[in-house]
Amino acid sequence: MKLPERLRAGKVYSFEFYPPKTAADTARLFDAALELKALSPDFVSVTNSSSGVAPYRTVALCGVLKAQFELEVVAHLTCLAHTKAEIAEICDGLRKMGITNILALRGDPQNVVTGARRRDYDHASQLIADLKRTGGFSIGGACYPEKHPEAPSLEADIARLKEKADAGAEYLITQLFFDNDFYFRFLEKAAAAGVAVPVLPGLMPITGYKQMQNFTKLMQVSVPNALKKGIERWEGDKDGMFKFSVEYASRQARALLDGGAPGLHLYTLNRSKAAMEILKNVKGKAVKA
Ligand code: FAD
Repeated sequence: MKLPERLRAGKVYSFEFYPPKTAADTARLFDAALELKALSPDFVSVTNSSSGVAPYRTVALCGVLKAQFELEVVAHLTCLAHTKAEIAEICDGLRKMGITNILALRGDPQNVVTGARRRDYDHASQLIADLKRTGGFSIGGACYPEKHPEAPSLEADIARLKEKADAGAEYLITQLFFDNDFYFRFLEKAAAAGVAVPVLPGLMPITGYKQMQNFTKLMQVSVPNALKKGIERWEGDKDGMFKFSVEYASRQARALLDGGAPGLHLYTLNRSKAAMEILKNVKGKAVKA
């Protein structure tokens, strides 16, 4: 069953990884992937640096996860630093690896290595339209329950999102958020604007005070008081922090599923422990390690 159909058929569980840089990071990722595979995820996704300098690290990792780990894989593909010809080559590489799912993204201008920006693409909707024209891929896109930081308003951002869906995005994955009200309000507004594709919520347990500050600053996501207080309370106590943040994310996840979310996309940072605990709590039964 193709991913968009799967998202409409029942709850979907997925994990996000990023391409490791060192041998030690690679070993840790493969251990995590092996452990998480035991939970039978519907797919795993692999991020792609918007710098424009190493797109094949993503292609290669996607190939390994598909061939060796037998996982369904979604390749992230950012377009800001690439020409149309480069995008076509990367897509060829993905096809050769048997990858048929792409999360089509713009990327962040500040990450593009100086001189690498080619100006064939300004927005994700243009990449989505190209991928749709070429055919052969299930296409997803990104969305932002608290609006994208550059957007003047949530309404303006959702109008742009409608362009992504119209161009061929068959499902959306959200930016992480810590207050479910944003997700449910966003769903209502997106539906009212005519965005009719499934929206998979992205979740990540916070692991420290600094990380919380980074999220609020970089991604401009809100941190509810209960979460802020807990993070402050457990700062410096690794085990206490882990337990607290997994419990918070598990409560959030359960409420999302009960409220009708089509599943969960867990940002793993290439580690398995928190993701396993959260799914175990959400599904209410022991999962194999
Ligand atoms: P777009 O959809 O192009 O939107 C970007 C901004 O432009 C928004 O403010 C939008 O409202 C506005 N906009 C859109 N179209 C137009 C238009 N026609 N005219 C004017 N304004 C317009 N980054 C990475 O580098 N690598 C990754 O692997 C990665 N994975 C991600 C996965 C998820 C689930 C999410 C939510 C984000 C991810 N990102 C990743 C971050 C993403 O690249 C950035 O948030 C980026 O700034 C926006 O990407 P986008 O695809 O949403 O862009």
